[in-house]
Amino acid sequence: MRFPGFFSSLRGKITIWFIVSIAAFMIIFSGMMLFSVRLWMVQTIDTDIMDHTEVLWRKIQRSQVPFDSLGKKKDIQYILNSESNKNRFLTWIINPDSMVVAHSYNIFQVENSLTTKLPVRILSDRPQFTEIPTLGFTHRCVSFPIIKTPDSTAIISFENNTYPIVGWVITASSSVPVNDFINSLTRVLIGMIVICIIIASAFALVLSELALRPLTEIVATARSITVNQLSTRIKPTEEQDEVGQLVTTLNHLFDRLEASFEQIRQFTADASHELLTPLTIIKGELELALSRDREGEYYKMSLGNALVQANQLILITQTLLKLSREEKSTEKLDFEILDIRIIVNKLFKQLVFLADQKSIRLTESLEESLPLINTNENLLHTLLFNLIENAIKYSPPKTKVIIKSRKHPVTGRFTIDVIDHGLGIPDEEKRNIFLRFYRIEKSRAKVTGGSGLGLSLVSKIRELLNLDIEVTNNKPMGTIFSVSFPDDSVFN
Ligand code: ADP
Repeated sequence: MRFPGFFSSLRGKITIWFIVSIAAFMIIFSGMMLFSVRLWMVQTIDTDIMDHTEVLWRKIQRSQVPFDSLGKKKDIQYILNSESNKNRFLTWIINPDSMVVAHSYNIFQVENSLTTKLPVRILSDRPQFTEIPTLGFTHRCVSFPIIKTPDSTAIISFENNTYPIVGWVITASSSVPVNDFINSLTRVLIGMIVICIIIASAFALVLSELALRPLTEIVATARSITVNQLSTRIKPTEEQDEVGQLVTTLNHLFDRLEASFEQIRQFTADASHELLTPLTIIKGELELALSRDREGEYYKMSLGNALVQANQLILITQTLLKLSREEKSTEKLDFEILDIRIIVNKLFKQLVFLADQKSIRLTESLEESLPLINTNENLLHTLLFNLIENAIKYSPPKTKVIIKSRKHPVTGRFTIDVIDHGLGIPDEEKRNIFLRFYRIEKSRAKVTGGSGLGLSLVSKIRELLNLDIEVTNNKPMGTIFSVSFPDDSVFN
């Protein structure tokens, strides 16, 4: 089963195409060569018989030998015999009745009957190529008309001849040697073509093997890459030819796949861990409550604790869903021109209850003439909601959370600050807080009931809306989250 596989492989196809191309080229070249050689050889014969016949014809014309009487035949035969090349050509002198008046001696070796009468197809009043049916296609023939002139010096013009034609000089030359030569040449060429095809096949196999070896290596490496072995890479080639570019592209693809896969793996591990904690607490609470008979108050407390954890589960799941939705959203977002003040007022209404619970004062310090912003309302709302919610969550009671607008002192961009007077964020943690499930201190989160997902959602929205977010320390304590809008989205 190796051969069908070979023919359907790229290597097989290249080899076959190479062989077919070489064979086609050689066949066309040989055909053209045979045709040209044959034409040239036949033309050489034609020129030879033309020259020979013309020389003979001139001699006869000049000798003024009329050949209507037998005595003169001998003279004509004499002239004919005197002509050189007599063995190469068959020569006849015939009268208008096709009767042979004289002929070269070699005609006896060809056909005896042609020594008395020569059947010639179409004889004309000027020199021309003709055919002797008895000899067939194996001979080239030419005929010259003999003209009876009043004297030997008369100028003969075939065009306007008025003198009588008394016979023809006919010369034939065999084309058998030409045919034999062409046949031999054909056999030699066929042999050469076969040998060339064999050599070309060997070359094609070696060349295709060399050309495709890098691809074979790529396939082998790509096959060896599995989920558990994503770090394998194809060995890069030195040249940046098509194969080199393919290797680079594939390696980049593997890099991206590995990064995405690692992200998914990390996310799954983190998510499982985060979901497991509340589930374990719920299970523990319920087991403890059911382990023996308890007071009604105890059950209430137990179920209350389980409910807190169930809410935590819901919160985590909802945020995860939101995050995955934002990540998937590759379609264009709907942007509209918005008044920031309206969004801030909405947020205040939603969050004032949370702030009141902790006796925190939620205030705004927005400029008089706020610019309009071209943005996506839902996403901007979610972003600010998370920042203000965090500010409330991570601030001690009886402090202030302020929403302020200003021009960024460095970039000049329109900026919204969410300022709190809470626990603050250490400098070394400022980058990490945007990672999924990251919390500065787990214990802090336990009290506040956070999931560690809020700021990663904020980070995703920052990307989508092309915003800048800076985290700075508030003096003497607390944190400022500054959200700057791109200049082209702000209308003053
Ligand atoms: P969480 O649900 O835990 O609040 P976030 O992603 O919103 O998750 O925040 C990540 C961590 O960053 C929080 O656990 C908290 O430790 C810290 N953090 C966020 N906002 C503030 C803030 N305003 N002040 C102090 N710490 C904060």
